Amino acid sequence: MQNISNEDWKKKLSPEQYRILRENGTDAPFTGQYVNNHEAGMYTCAACGNELFDSETKFESGSGWPSFYDVISKGNVKVSEDGSHGMKRLEVTCANCGSHLGHLFDDGPRDKTGQRYCINSTSLNFKAKK
Ligand code: FE
Repeated sequence: MQNISNEDWKKKLSPEQYRILRENGTDAPFTGQYVNNHEAGMYTCAACGNELFDSETKFESGSGWPSFYDVISKGNVKVSEDGSHGMKRLEVTCANCGSHLGHLFDDGPRDKTGQRYCINSTSLNFKAKK
């Protein structure tokens, strides 16, 4: 998955997906299709299908973006420092295809991991459990 050109990504993704996933964009808060999704299932990378988050770790953060307190497996995402927009944040990307997913904060549920993966709906697909 490492050598997909920008041109190929543009063919594969919608313009909005390209803006978020490949240009580090952000959904406007409270607009994404999964903000209020409470179905049981698996969230995958919208760019490559890599499994990312189980619905069991999704929680109501009030932030306006889908929020998870854990990733399905630590190796499935990559966390790196992001100094853009004058903020020190941790960026979360898909470990398989390198696409931008969102950011990681340490104000998640304290009775769980204490972490909050703040993820763009546009970066995700959802597969409901059968
Ligand atoms: Fe991916």
